[in-house]
Order: sequence, then C-alpha cells, then structure tokens
Amino acid sequence: MTHVFHRNPRQHLDFAMRGQGIELFDQNGKGYIDASGGAAVSCLGHGHPVVIQAIKDQLDRIAYAHSSFFTTQAAEDLADFLAERAPGDLDHVYFLSGGSEAVEAALKLARQYFVETGQPARRHFIARRQSYHGNTLGALAIGGNAWRREPFLPLLVPAHHVAPCYAYRDQLPGESEEQYAERLAQELEQKILELGAGNVAAFVAETVVGATAGALAPVKTYWRRMREVCDRHGVLLILDEVMSGMGRSGHLFACAEDDVVPDIIAIAKGLGAGYQPIGAMLASGRIYDAIVAGSGFFQHGHTYMGHATACAAALAVQEVIERDHLLANVLARGEQLRGELRSALGQHRNVGDIRGRGLFVGVEFVQDRAGKAALDPAQKTHARLKTQAMHNGLLMYPMGGTIDGVRGDHVLLAPPFICTDADISEIVARFAATVSQVLP
Ligand code: PMP
Repeated sequence: MTHVFHRNPRQHLDFAMRGQGIELFDQNGKGYIDASGGAAVSCLGHGHPVVIQAIKDQLDRIAYAHSSFFTTQAAEDLADFLAERAPGDLDHVYFLSGGSEAVEAALKLARQYFVETGQPARRHFIARRQSYHGNTLGALAIGGNAWRREPFLPLLVPAHHVAPCYAYRDQLPGESEEQYAERLAQELEQKILELGAGNVAAFVAETVVGATAGALAPVKTYWRRMREVCDRHGVLLILDEVMSGMGRSGHLFACAEDDVVPDIIAIAKGLGAGYQPIGAMLASGRIYDAIVAGSGFFQHGHTYMGHATACAAALAVQEVIERDHLLANVLARGEQLRGELRSALGQHRNVGDIRGRGLFVGVEFVQDRAGKAALDPAQKTHARLKTQAMHNGLLMYPMGGTIDGVRGDHVLLAPPFICTDADISEIVARFAATVSQVLP
C-alpha cells in the first residue's frame, strides 16, 4: 500500500531509479529512451554533470531567500540571459515554479494591466479549442477541453474558444495558407466583437500546440494575422510556450520563427529541463511600465518564485544548450526524426500525419490516410501505444480519443537535444515496432 496520492491510483507504476543521458532505468534495471516521457521536459537528458555541479555550487552558497527581502545572483543572471535573447521588448522576467503558475500569472497580469492604465476592467479571455494551458483554476478555465473543466464548474475566469490552426484537418480544398490564416483571424475578430472589445483582456494560445494536438505548428502567416486582430481591438496576446519554447522547436523562443512578438509569454518545462521546478513569465515594456506607473505592485506572487537553486540550474541548462550549439542539433535531428518516421511509417494505413518543428514531433493516427477519420476512441489506441512503447523501452507522450474535439489519437515525440543521429534512428526503430505491434 502506498501513501502517495497518485493521480491514477489504479495504475501500476514502476520506480524510476536513475537516469543517464537519454535513458532512464527502473528498479529492474530496464532502460527506457526518454523520447519525451517527461512531457518535453528533459531537453539535456539525465544526469548532466554541468547542471548537477551548478546546483551543488548554489546549494553551498544559498538555496532560498524570500523574494520580498532579497534577490539572488542566480535569479538576476537567469533573467539577464532570457531578456537578452527574448523577442522584441519581452525583457521583464517574472519567475514561478512551473507552467500553470506562469500562465496563471499571465492571466492576472493581463487583467491588472487594464486596471493600472485606467481602462475599464477587461475580464474575458479567448483561447482555442483543443488546448491545454495548465491545471490551476484560472489556467484550467481557459483550456479548450470541456471534459477537463467540467468537474470544476463554475470556473473563475470567463473564457471563450476559437478554432486552432490545424491545417491537416481544417484547411479547405483550394484554400491557400494565407486564406486559411485569414479565415481564422476573422473568426477571432468576430468573437472579440461578439463579446465587445472592451471586455476582452487577452487571446491566449500555444505558439506550436504540444500535448493536445501533437506538435501542431501554424501556417506561415497565422501569427501575424492574429496579432493584427489583437492590436486592432486593444486585446493583449499571450503566448504559452511552456512546452514549445526553450529550444524545443529549434529556436529559444518558438515565436521567433513566426514573425510575432506577444505582450506576455509563458515558459517552463525546458527552462529547468527537469533538474529543478521552474517557470517564468516574460512581459513587454508596455505592460511592465504600466504596472510601475500605476500601483507599482503586481498583485501576484509565490513563496518559491525565483528560487536560487532552480534559477542556477536553469541558467546552467541554458548555457550548456548555447555553449554546445544544441539548437542546431535540434533542427538537424528534428528533420532526421520526421524523415525517418516518414520512411518507416509514411505508408502505414493508420498514420495520418507526421509533423512538427525541431525536436517537437507529432504523429497523428487515423482509420485510413485518405479519409482521416479518427480511430474508435473505445480502442484507446494512444494508451495502448504508450504501454507497448514502454515494453519496448521507449517513453513518449500519448494523447487521444475523440473526446470533446480532440480529434484522434496522436503521440508526441520530444527527445533530448543531445540525441545523436544513431539515437534518433533507435527511437524510430522502437516507435515503428510499437506501432506495428499495436496497429498490425
Ligand atoms: N501550458 C502548456 C502548453 C503545457 O503543456 C503545460 C503542461 N503540460 C502547462 C501549461 C502546465 O504546466 P505545468 O504542468 O508545469 O503546470
């Protein structure tokens, strides 16, 4: 009998005993390639000596000081590092302990911005269907899956949803990418007008959708069009890069590839790469200055924000990524991964789409490639793929069922940035074997 209140008490869990490089090992010594077992977290793999040393050094100095009394060198250095590399003027870095906290803080900052600038309070948020932004009550409220929200109704934040940019399923025959992006921008504009522009605080979305749709990158002009609509109506743009950011998509900030600068961006996961729990919210000068000129105090905070050990770990992670030119490897290995997946599985009747950016790769499963109909959710294909993959020594991130607009089963592969080309081939071999065992 365990006293840990596991999320799924009926599920059997083995023990993670140790990790080395791209592998982790259970209590029986069985090894698993961590090709995103940690939900796109472990970007440097396990047991990286530089990160471990940085954590030890910080512990020897100081682990914790409350943020209302002190700052720390680790927090200042990490904020400098991020601000220098962030797009536009997103150079005010607010530290938190994870992704939900970062999104939650972004929602509150957006609302407070309008109050501080003497505008009527804007209470509503617009997000997208088939989205996930975290599990705290505010972040949950904006998430695009009703089945997640239902047990917690009524939620605290009024949220409304528009379509995600899902060209594989929603781009019409004969419609160009530009026309498709324009159609989605018009839908957002209509939603804003319906609600009354003066009521909408922000549009919130993942730059590249992660778990809920399997590495779904938007068409080229999408973000530019969405930004224009937000600007026309004074609506803030919040990008959630909790999963897609910090190099996962091949750029430190995913939106760098999309020619868009949001007002607020949320990051987590890859920031600390699993070595310490840490997230952050980056705000533009316009937002920061409004708070400073107004009350001078952001009404939000947590005990562990800017934790010195977490900041030291994250800085070490980011410095290693830069020092070892790992983002170039992310781009090259990502191309390889998609290419080898297409060679191995491109003709499989149930493999509908292989997509993504950098080492953020999704595979969508269907009844047949031409019809694109989702697999029967009762078959729980995604869950069977996960179990079989573990049997084959592979950790990947499954999501699925046709629940509430989640259209079909898919799997996310987000292996560490340190993968070699041989590692990628091994991941593809284990993944292809898994697919042929579950979907013969
Ligand atoms: N936003 C996105 C896009 C995520 O993928 C997640 C986590 N899966 C979160 C927010 C929430 O992050 P956390 O679990 O660290 O609270």
